[in-house]
Amino acid sequence: MAKPIICTHCNSPMQEYSGPRYNRKVAGFFIIGGIFAVLFWVGMVLGIPLILVGLYMLGAKRELWVCKDCNTAVERFNIDSEKLGK
Ligand SMILES: [Zn+2]
Repeated sequence: MAKPIICTHCNSPMQEYSGPRYNRKVAGFFIIGGIFAVLFWVGMVLGIPLILVGLYMLGAKRELWVCKDCNTAVERFNIDSEKLGK
């Protein structure tokens, strides 16, 4: 269990939050557009990548630290320890 990050604005502990990274409407639009492209044979080449991009967008999560007191949010990155030179 990681220690909570302290908010730089108001010194309250921040909470871990994870939610969808992309707008679900946009992702749905890509999937529906891709299905239509495939159905009408206008573009297998266009439609399949559109569906894949849409599915990726639906699945992608965003990890944030959120301060409940002042609504500050910080994006969380996991850096590989190899890249730190250890
Ligand atoms: Zn705060």
